[in-house]
Amino acid sequence: MPLVNMRDMLNHARRHGYAVAALDVVSLDFLEGVIRAAENCCAPVIVSLAESHFEHYDFELLMAAAVAACRRSSAPLALHLDHGTSLDCAVTAIRLGCNGVMVDGSTLPLSDNLTLTKAVVDMAHACGVVVEGELGYVPGVEGEDAEKHPGEVAYTTPGEAKGFVERTGVDALAVSIGTVHGRMRSKPELDFRRLADIAEVVDIPLVIHGGTGLSDDQFRKLIALGVAKINYYTALADAAALSILDAAEGKPRAGYTALTRGVRDAVRQEAERVIRLFGGSGRASEVLAQCRPRREVVHLILFNATGDAEAMMAKGRRLLGAIPGVRRVSTGHALTEGARYRHCWLIRFADPAVIEGYKHHPDHVAFANGDFRPMASDRLTIDYALD
Ligand SMILES: [Zn+2]
Repeated sequence: MPLVNMRDMLNHARRHGYAVAALDVVSLDFLEGVIRAAENCCAPVIVSLAESHFEHYDFELLMAAAVAACRRSSAPLALHLDHGTSLDCAVTAIRLGCNGVMVDGSTLPLSDNLTLTKAVVDMAHACGVVVEGELGYVPGVEGEDAEKHPGEVAYTTPGEAKGFVERTGVDALAVSIGTVHGRMRSKPELDFRRLADIAEVVDIPLVIHGGTGLSDDQFRKLIALGVAKINYYTALADAAALSILDAAEGKPRAGYTALTRGVRDAVRQEAERVIRLFGGSGRASEVLAQCRPRREVVHLILFNATGDAEAMMAKGRRLLGAIPGVRRVSTGHALTEGARYRHCWLIRFADPAVIEGYKHHPDHVAFANGDFRPMASDRLTIDYALD
């Protein structure tokens, strides 16, 4: 199943009064558990990879697995960068296959948050990718005790939220109304009145981070007030850890696979519980029918070259591969002697929207005019949308 446009997915949730679970994955076990949960519940799910977790895994490798897992799944999914802190990180996430990115400038002064978020929105929208911003500050670190990172909650104000959305063009907004990332000892107090006031003036899906520890009633109330995406990780991590501790009990010499055997299922069970609680189960077929699928493009150039074609192509792979929205640049040579065209470029774009920006990107213009075209006057170019 192709990835589904995350803006369409969140708008579907908002229209129909449920929230999509955005579940952070930190390993193959988590990835498989989360996707199986989506399939078992016939639900749309957002598979998230958080920049704060990159020290625990290789982002590029886990993204390759996530792309493959989403492609073979029957559930409507989106692949999302969670808590990206820079434009570079968002560009990398899109190159690796994310169709949604969060830019988290919530620890910055408001004007810097606006500038960073706007830059990510301009880049990502030109790549057909959806952006979540954050205004106000949800303290804590995903998967850790909230007491270890006792930052002050900075509440989102309705007026600032309205201005932020208008000035940045974000597609979804994470708001701070009293939740905290990680594990809490006490029951969080949520400012529902504030959430209702924000929802009144902001006409895009709202997002809640720090879902772990909220009561079922609190979740229902958040969703009733317009929350369409809920980030949920710490309880998945706790379920995984508990499964390992159970497997280790009384077996000091248990091996790695014996200890981790139950992780995938523990993650799946907790993921299924919250997907059902948030109201997403049974929605898969409507979402698939009503939301645009992600559609990648191959920009194909067949050509003959005079001079040092290898050096020119190596330079092109490096330069063109760094342009936002380009997922991969491959070059090739005809296997048959006497082929009409001896060389090719296969440039993969994240979305048809990338074509225009790519054409006018200064690095492309300089390379095309200075290196490629002077050597390759005999060429054929076609863009293909991939099925
Ligand atoms: Zn978060």
